[in-house]
Amino acid sequence: MNVVLLGPPGAGKGTQAVKLARTLGLLHLSSGDILRAERQAKTQLGRQAQDFMDRGVLVPDDVILTMMMDHISRPEASGGFLLDGFPRTVAQAEGLDERLARKGARIDIVANMVVEDADVTRRLTGRWSCPVDGRIYHEIYSPPKAAGRCDDCGAALSRRKDDEPDVVRQRLRTYHEETEPLEAYYKARGVLESIDASGTVEEVTDSLQRVCRAR
Ligand code: ADP
Ligand code: AMP
Repeated sequence: MNVVLLGPPGAGKGTQAVKLARTLGLLHLSSGDILRAERQAKTQLGRQAQDFMDRGVLVPDDVILTMMMDHISRPEASGGFLLDGFPRTVAQAEGLDERLARKGARIDIVANMVVEDADVTRRLTGRWSCPVDGRIYHEIYSPPKAAGRCDDCGAALSRRKDDEPDVVRQRLRTYHEETEPLEAYYKARGVLESIDASGTVEEVTDSLQRVCRAR
């Protein structure tokens, strides 16, 4: 099964993807995490992406499509994958469908995580993450056991530069203009399942498991 998690920044895609990938046996591919790893490694791709990411706008479609197809084509993804943060434009979705069709594959379900801008803003401005293993926390909603330290590896937690309020506002504008049209795109293809993502992490996990298991 190949799944897409759709939703605004801060909807909880990364939080849920880790759990869902584990229970469904899928490879979790987050375009944002892949880009941040490329930046950290100072690759050409990372350097190309950094200015777009810092401004809260999208990295060009051709760059993202090539990057994501490289990961989707690896043997680890052959048992099914869970996409988080990709596709983010209709052009990316069309490119993905075309390339998957050439391999005889398809997207089976698009879980659309619906949550208000005010909620995601609160989530993003309180987000902390572990720079070593990527685990996501929130200072109020999912605090670490020891302040400022990852529960799993003890590393010092950090904030994302693009979670500053000004950049969050731009990322939400980008989402409404460029990514929201994907709801109609996937609805027309009969794969869209919208779920209420405004509840607790556990409530959202239950809704996602339910729609994925029903397919
Ligand atoms: P996304 O990957 O969609 O940008 P994240 O999974 O990184 O979102 O979550 C954004 C922030 O919101 C994190 O700080 C996370 O701990 C918190 N969060 C995730 N899901 C929920 C939820 N259901 N309720 C409250 N906070 C949440
Ligand atoms: P995220 O971690 O999903 O919030 O993504 C962080 C940033 O990476 C975004 O604001 C974009 O600049 C870039 N990015 C991630 N995924 C994509 C994508 N599918 N298309 C274009 N840019 C992306």
